[in-house]
Amino acid sequence: MNKLTLKAYGKINLGLDALSKRPDGYHELSMIMQTVDIYDELVFKLSDKPGIRLTEEFRFDTEIDGEEGRMVGTSDDPESDEAQIDLSTIVRADHTNLVWKAANLLMEEFKPEKGVRIHLIKRIPVAAGMAGGSSDCAATLKGLNQLFGLGLSLEELQERGVKLGADVPYCLLGGTALAEGIGEKLTVLPDMPECVLVVAKPSIGIPTPLVFKYLKVYELEEHPDIYGMKAAIEAGDLNGVIHRLGNVLETAAIPNFPVVGELKQAMRDLGAQGVLMSGSGPTVFGIFPDKSSAQAAAKELKMRELAAQVFVTGPCTP
Ligand code: ATP
Repeated sequence: MNKLTLKAYGKINLGLDALSKRPDGYHELSMIMQTVDIYDELVFKLSDKPGIRLTEEFRFDTEIDGEEGRMVGTSDDPESDEAQIDLSTIVRADHTNLVWKAANLLMEEFKPEKGVRIHLIKRIPVAAGMAGGSSDCAATLKGLNQLFGLGLSLEELQERGVKLGADVPYCLLGGTALAEGIGEKLTVLPDMPECVLVVAKPSIGIPTPLVFKYLKVYELEEHPDIYGMKAAIEAGDLNGVIHRLGNVLETAAIPNFPVVGELKQAMRDLGAQGVLMSGSGPTVFGIFPDKSSAQAAAKELKMRELAAQVFVTGPCTP
């Protein structure tokens, strides 16, 4: 095999609870993770030139009715209109990219004779609480495992992936899962019930460590019912899921980034049955009764400039 293309899916959290702060600075978490049908694409090619060459293009725009958004920049094109988007949401095609880090980790360990060219097409909002970087990282581990015929099992990829990010083991798995510990202890759940989602990201990006810094874990008055959510998913009960949506990181993000609260309120007013911030934000998702109400809401959010990227999508299991 000389060439391989993989999709790297984003995720939302249907539930996110923080239980304590560990001596190593990480929080002990309990989360319900769900893959959504929003993805980056990675094209891997074997190369006679040793080492890693990474290129990248951005397709950061709205996807409301199946039409793909305009391309707003490529890493090879310094004259592109990248200035239209928040610079903190730009990911460089260099050794700081999680794709490069994942490829480097495997190549340092297995020292293949050939090199690899990787092209990354980014659509998942960046610094958004959707694990886009972790998902690209997971896809790269999978891609190189196949391309170089390394024969690593899922568990062996997960052991390596967790060194690059707490969400990487989940991203290697995908679908619906309970994630505990720092996110690496995974329990596979049945697919969540079918539904229509609007996923909206404001123009700001929020670095995950900042939100955890603002979180006062020992002062939390309410905790989401994560095990109730798990039971609702197991029972295929969408209403049960909607009523248990909860994310303690909202207590840290909303007071500091009011657009998150405004976006939640707007989605509710536009007919969402349940609304939540995903991960460390600022992405907000809403569960809508049908596709037409979701499309109308998505257009309205975009028009009111509450969101820079809006998708009408749904849960998926890759
Ligand atoms: P999480 O939900 O896991 O907290 P996130 O959605 O908040 O993730 P990401 O988009 O995964 O955040 O990226 C966080 C940071 O990682 C970015 O600000 C960027 O600097 C860095 N990064 C490195 N490589 C990538 C990549 N391929 N895609 C996105 N971000 C990347």
